[in-house]
Amino acid sequence: MVDLNKKVQYVKNVGPNRVKLLNKLNINTLYDLITYFPRNYEDRGVAKRLSDCIDGEEVLIKAKAITKVTEIFARKLKMYRLIVRDGETPLTITWFNQSYLKNIFKLGHTYNFYGKIEIKSGKYEMKSPIFDESGENKNTGKIIPIYPLTYGISQNTIRKIIENGINEVYENIEETLPEYILDKYKLMNINDAIKKIHFPENKSDFIRARYRLVFEELLGFQLALLRLRENYKYEEKGIEFNKDVKISDIINTLPFNLTKAQLRVLEEIDRDMESSKPMNRLLQGDVGSGKTIVSILASYKAVKSGYQVAILAPTAILASQHLENFQKTLDSFGIKSELLISSITKKKKQELKERLANGEIDILIGTHAMLEEDVIFKNLGLVVTDEQHRFGVKQRAKIASKGNNPDVIVMSATPIPRTLALILYGDLDISIIDELPPNRKKVDTFAVGKELEERLNNFVAKQIDEGRQCYIVCPLVEENEELDLKSVTELAEKLKTEAFSKYKVEYLHGKMKPKEKDEIMLKFKNGEIDILISTTVIEVGVDVPNANIMVIENAERFGLAQLHQLRGRVGRGEYKSYCILKYMSRSKEVKERMQIMCATNDGFLISEKDLELRGSGDFFGTAQHRNSRNENSKFI
Ligand code: ADP
Ligand code: MG
Repeated sequence: MVDLNKKVQYVKNVGPNRVKLLNKLNINTLYDLITYFPRNYEDRGVAKRLSDCIDGEEVLIKAKAITKVTEIFARKLKMYRLIVRDGETPLTITWFNQSYLKNIFKLGHTYNFYGKIEIKSGKYEMKSPIFDESGENKNTGKIIPIYPLTYGISQNTIRKIIENGINEVYENIEETLPEYILDKYKLMNINDAIKKIHFPENKSDFIRARYRLVFEELLGFQLALLRLRENYKYEEKGIEFNKDVKISDIINTLPFNLTKAQLRVLEEIDRDMESSKPMNRLLQGDVGSGKTIVSILASYKAVKSGYQVAILAPTAILASQHLENFQKTLDSFGIKSELLISSITKKKKQELKERLANGEIDILIGTHAMLEEDVIFKNLGLVVTDEQHRFGVKQRAKIASKGNNPDVIVMSATPIPRTLALILYGDLDISIIDELPPNRKKVDTFAVGKELEERLNNFVAKQIDEGRQCYIVCPLVEENEELDLKSVTELAEKLKTEAFSKYKVEYLHGKMKPKEKDEIMLKFKNGEIDILISTTVIEVGVDVPNANIMVIENAERFGLAQLHQLRGRVGRGEYKSYCILKYMSRSKEVKERMQIMCATNDGFLISEKDLELRGSGDFFGTAQHRNSRNENSKFI
């Protein structure tokens, strides 16, 4: 059997420079390399008739050279032109600055060309296509994998390296699934699955390979979760919170009535808290559905029963926001909440830790800083983690280990259909808040094309003049931070100097330090910034009630669930709010997706539609996959 932990530098064609680039992509071992799955494929396998092509389509054309390559000088460029013919239809092909092409094509021979067809006044053209010499199929004639990439490494290079990696291991990877499962579910064996997920010979190869890999991933996931759940069930006894502490006492003091959904969920939580079985509950609800207040009320019950509470938030700004809300509701009951984030002084941190350890602090709200060893609770009884997808199962376990089987609530604002939630959170019971508070206003959503840009900008400017603020979300670029950065800074420069030169425009991106991000977010929150441009890093739960416009560039590149998440950042205040989806495609599917966004604000409905339109793949997308790859064993 091969050693999949072998360092990637020993793979053929990987020199010292490429090792660095590969490491940047998180590819360190042979295993990482062969499980660096394509993000997409191009079907360069089946040629299309030229006369059937439409403008802008990327296709494979099989055509005969009817001229030699001619050299044309155009300003500084040297162009090389070849005319070929597919049946009766001529196609003009142009390359730039590649003189070696002159001697490659032979008159009367047939070649494969893969590229984008442009039709100009009835004439077919192609620029810099990929091609194969007669009889070869190196670059065409098959399905080609496209990988998520970083700067400095080309598709051809990574494809070659992965091919070498696979050649080393093929037929020698140890099977991970038992034979009866392979038989029963008619699964491809692991060696073929790995080979064909990269280099499928046809579509059915790809589908079977992917099925096998997804099957394995989900099976592993389920087994791991079942094991966790079994542990909870049979081995551990949890806390029985005091039945005489009535959550209804505090509900009556709130300035609003809870929704039916909130009350139902609270009942579920209350029941769990009073039982001796440790609670492990996913609290799911759309942004703004009022999860936080539910966690506040549960915290009340815990504290009044004599326990401490830990609230774990993904960012400092969210933690501070929670602190405000907790104090507002609980201070008057003599409940002491404090904030622990990494930016507070050492002295203050020390003091907090002491007061926590001797029980003076009832509720500690914070970020990862709370996970450190020396943060010790006197009597931790309830743990709430916010925005679960940011924290792994491990972190949840870590914070929980600071108490003696405390109850755990995991809050998530990503609405996903119940069936899918059951798979993703198999270790948790699920409570869903499927109703928004009645005062919530719908965010008016519009999908617009490029031609309306100027009017849109005027609209944004007018709102800012009236005192509002605006978010602009940048197009999504590959899974690549450097390109992301470029797209953010370019857009920011453009808007700063052109349409919005009168206003205070700032930007945020994934490469900034958390502290820098928090600073900008805080400025935005305080109204010192009019327009905030960012990649998708704007924090999900951040509350800026004065921001009432969300513009999303290239909305067609986002999934519906993600668009809905982004949109949730507006509509949090008293002002009428807008979400503007800019898109550039004429495809029917894109239009349909945009229409769903315009028609409804219901996150669950949207996620169901998303699932229908795209399949579950995106829910189990790269992020999920990456995690399981790092934490679990082979191939799950
Ligand atoms: P989530 O955490 O689910 O995104 P929040 O708990 O932050 O939502 O609630 C958003 C806002 O709505 C908060 O200002 C909260 O006080 C308020 N709120 C919560 N529940 C209700 C309710 N039943 N009626 C009116 N307002 C509510
Ligand atoms: Mg309990």
